[in-house]
Amino acid sequence: MSFHDKFTILKNLFGYNSFRPGQERMIDDILSGRDCFAVMPTGAGKSCCYQIPALMLPGITLVVSPLISLMKDQVTALKQLGVAAAYLNSSLTPRQFDLALSNARYGLYKIIYVAPERLLTQGFLDFASSVDISLLAVDEAHCVSQWGQDFRPSYLDIPEFINFLAKRPTVAAFTATATEQVREDIVKYLGLCDPDIMVTGFDRDNLYYEVAQPGNKYSALLSYIRAHKSDRGIVYCSTRKTVDELYTKLTADGISAGRYHAGMDDEERRQNQEDFTYDRIDVIAATNAFGMGIDKSDIRYVIHYNMPKNPESYYQEAGRAGRDGAPAECILYYSGQDVIIDKFLIDNSTEGSDLDEKTLTELRERDYKRLELMVEYCMTPDCLRRFILEYFGETKHKPGSCGNCANCLGKYKTTEVTKEAVIALKFIKEFNENDFSFGIGASNLADALKGSRTDAVKRLGLDEETHYSALSHMPLADIRRLIDTLVSRGFLRYSQGKYRTLEIGAEKLKRGEKIYIKNDPRYQGKAGAAKTGETIPLPRDGSAAASLDDAEIRKTDLFERLRALRKKLSDNRGIPPYMVFSDKTLIEIVKKTPRDREQFLSCSGVGQNKYQQFGEEFIREIRSYLSEQSQSKT
Ligand code: ADP
Ligand code: ZN
Repeated sequence: MSFHDKFTILKNLFGYNSFRPGQERMIDDILSGRDCFAVMPTGAGKSCCYQIPALMLPGITLVVSPLISLMKDQVTALKQLGVAAAYLNSSLTPRQFDLALSNARYGLYKIIYVAPERLLTQGFLDFASSVDISLLAVDEAHCVSQWGQDFRPSYLDIPEFINFLAKRPTVAAFTATATEQVREDIVKYLGLCDPDIMVTGFDRDNLYYEVAQPGNKYSALLSYIRAHKSDRGIVYCSTRKTVDELYTKLTADGISAGRYHAGMDDEERRQNQEDFTYDRIDVIAATNAFGMGIDKSDIRYVIHYNMPKNPESYYQEAGRAGRDGAPAECILYYSGQDVIIDKFLIDNSTEGSDLDEKTLTELRERDYKRLELMVEYCMTPDCLRRFILEYFGETKHKPGSCGNCANCLGKYKTTEVTKEAVIALKFIKEFNENDFSFGIGASNLADALKGSRTDAVKRLGLDEETHYSALSHMPLADIRRLIDTLVSRGFLRYSQGKYRTLEIGAEKLKRGEKIYIKNDPRYQGKAGAAKTGETIPLPRDGSAAASLDDAEIRKTDLFERLRALRKKLSDNRGIPPYMVFSDKTLIEIVKKTPRDREQFLSCSGVGQNKYQQFGEEFIREIRSYLSEQSQSKT
């Protein structure tokens, strides 16, 4: 297959009507033979930037990619579009590897994905020097930098590999990692020649952000998952232990869940990831070990069960939601306890143990700083999106409401509780001064401030303290939130001992400083109102679907039917459902309810090949839906 025009490829092959920001510029650079480097957020469409020119250039395009699963995913997706591509990595046996190489020599593939470790092997060098290579695309280019979290030493072999070639191909690098330092490393260590560097904005407007401080994280999570039955999501936890506990509990509660962390054996991990990709399970509980290899584009929510230790990690992990551009939710469950765990992890990190004491102290201070910013994100009553964008140096973002985060949507009531905070602090101070033998834990303190005469309150004599029941006007859950907030801000801390009692922390409340809590127990998630996860019928008049927004479309019964059809078709072919059509495309199909070939092809994300494979079955399903609907109404 050979093409001469980028628009034709975009339309006929990928089925898209227009380029996304930045894509065209990168494609034009590559076609004119100029090196380029694109920093684009996840889901912005980096792959098209090199796949489209690859189909137009005379020679082969090599794509260096760090992970087997990513390569496999890309090659499968290309095959669905009717493009012959291959990958060369350690998952192939020597025989398969040789076969792939000889196919490549015959010019069977325009695009070949290769692991960086393969580049300098004799077999591959022999091949590379005997064919015409037009383009070398470096995916996840930040792996070349030691500053990133995904450093891969063999990425440093890339320039040597290029030198080995008789003719230098155009080199194009891609990453979603934003930091300045990493960007400089990429240009330097990949040896890019006068590259056109393009940094697009980091905003992803389909992502909804929320920070919640639920009284009971587990029940909040369970009801969220139940209310989002047809969605797939990740729940990130900070420790393996929490992952295991969550997995056990969710499974016991009838949720189809999986788990993923570095303590499991390779096979079990692989199986869990595959089950998730193929929609055999709905939710996966994971540590941050579940990362770069996830290419599932239809993840509808990412919930952080614990606060991550810095905004970079948060942006990256939350950003795994909604790569297909359809609405997705990024929710963080915050509690003071998380801050303590994160501090512990920073203090006890073995990372960089070969460094000298001074550097280590600096690193630790930097980590503390970033942790503080993360706490600030959790506490801010202002726009969460703007907070993240400003963190990444994007100050251009328009002020005012973003319309798609919990704070801008006014989902939480923010209450000032400075006076109450002072009382709580006094309670602990006085109690600890007067009583030498034991302390009190957070829940007893909350009960005492509320004025509940529980057994423990009576036994400890808390009902005789001056400030007993001083906060009786506040709901108990809010008093708990207040204590939690005081702990996370360092005004209170837990003792080292076995009983985790409270003591006055290192921080002092400054004059004029205010303390806030957020509350709205009625609310969980943007679509929180629809607790049941039931579907609604599509409006009778076909054109009315066009007026629904993406989130509403996803709740219609037609969407649900097409989703089931998609699952059936993907199971038959042994590919993940999102490779049949993405959620975004499925939404578009429901919106347009196409009844013939032409209408179907006009849906964004439907190319010629996809139409041939799936179009008729979808049209048949839509037609039978519409006729059932009209019969039931007459
Ligand atoms: P990235 O690698 O930047 O995270 P991908 O290349 O995986 O992003 O693309 C994300 C999604 O956007 C994919 O489903 C892709 O098919 C889709 N996409 C890419 N380009 C366009 C476009 N011009 N119009 C609509 N969708 C697009
Ligand atoms: Zn906002």
